[in-house]
Amino acid sequence: MILDKEQLRRNLDEVIWNIEEARIAVSEHHIVKLVTVAKYTEMENIATLYELGQRAFGENQVQQLKERMTELEALPLEWHMIGSLQKNKINNLIDLRPSLMHSLESIELATELNKKLEAKGSKMHCLLQINAAKEESKSGVSSEEAFDIYQQIKESCPNITLKGVMTIGAHTEDIKRIQQSFETTHSIYEKLEKEGATICSMGMSSDYKLAIKCGSNLIRVGSALFK
Ligand SMILES: *Cc1c(COP(=O)(O)O)cnc(C)c1O
Repeated sequence: MILDKEQLRRNLDEVIWNIEEARIAVSEHHIVKLVTVAKYTEMENIATLYELGQRAFGENQVQQLKERMTELEALPLEWHMIGSLQKNKINNLIDLRPSLMHSLESIELATELNKKLEAKGSKMHCLLQINAAKEESKSGVSSEEAFDIYQQIKESCPNITLKGVMTIGAHTEDIKRIQQSFETTHSIYEKLEKEGATICSMGMSSDYKLAIKCGSNLIRVGSALFK
């Protein structure tokens, strides 16, 4: 559905207001970045959000990312890859030069990505995805292994620059469990901050306020903006 500018403005204002409220509760100095997840929406809405001041957009499929980056090439947008990366799409993603890849979900994927980056003489900024809620359906490394795997990737994959961590909150109505998955991820992030990590990507439409209160500094919001 193509939304009109006023509707998008209201949605964006509401999200920004909620971000403000949540981040101020943490600290005046706590800055939160909003990445708009455009995967469900039309290209036209991305262009309108750009007119409203939004700059960072995320997609979960390499093909769709490519189409949109190409179509909207004239706009100075920042593109994020947030979905699972299939091995046969790695080269395509490298060629797109995304601003940040959120879903580095295993050492195997990191090794493969590093090899292909090397071959192309390219680099990529990535986040290590953590499956903090321990859900079968989700990708990511376990919270127990995350710290060590992060170090291992840093040491063995010189073409990947790790910038921090990403998680998807527990898929449940139980706020306590969602909170726990965010707190677990944030505590790993805090340890990694000492070695230069700067991004803790957590929070989507249903749980971004909670995520910010747990220390997230990058939220990925889709449906709340396109209603
Ligand atoms: C789709 C998606 C989002 C946004 O989801 P909404 O609930 O629509 O805000 C955020 N992160 C990831 C990894 C996604 O796949």
